[in-house]
Amino acid sequence: MRLLLIEDDLALGASLQKALSQAGFAVEWVRRVADARGFARQGTHDLVLLDIGLPDGSGLDLLREWRTEDATALPVILLTARDSVEDRVGGLDLGADDYVPKPFATTELVSRIHAVLRRRAGFASQRWQAGAVTVDVATRAVTVDAQPVDLSPREFALVLELVRQAGRVVPRHRLERVVFPQVDVPDSNALDVHIHHVRRKLGAERIRTVRGVGFMIAAQ
Ligand code: CA
Repeated sequence: MRLLLIEDDLALGASLQKALSQAGFAVEWVRRVADARGFARQGTHDLVLLDIGLPDGSGLDLLREWRTEDATALPVILLTARDSVEDRVGGLDLGADDYVPKPFATTELVSRIHAVLRRRAGFASQRWQAGAVTVDVATRAVTVDAQPVDLSPREFALVLELVRQAGRVVPRHRLERVVFPQVDVPDSNALDVHIHHVRRKLGAERIRTVRGVGFMIAAQ
């Protein structure tokens, strides 16, 4: 598997290149939008890891260019700053396959890469499904048994993360980071309040509590 890493932070780029190589990927690393354009056009990469803030432009502009040229082009995982919820949502709207908020553990990134590649192989769609729950990441429409459900932006972020990792327990801290990106340590009840609202809207049985760990939505 060949990865194209677009990241201007020298320390992060170097450590990612090393860790991902050790995980069995061939990694080409560039630091500027201009260099990334040339590499991506070669069409020899299986997936792109894309930083947003780059010295000569925005990774989101690059993503927009690729998706305009070819909607089914390369799988892209955005590496986003922790506090930029707009960038993440904007990135998904533009057709990013996933995003990983910084800072992240390399093991988590590797599992995301595998998940995206699996998903691309299985269903190359903007509609993610977990049982009766469907999320259209392009339009941000959520349905349960084909019935539309109205969610607040934070509730949507919560559901998106659970569905993205359907069948796996998502740890509380991970959900807190996704739902409250601008808060260092959210109130201990804040996540539970949102879980409560989402259960009410989706059906209480759909979101399982795994005591002491986190929450999970069934894949089937
Ligand atoms: Ca950067």
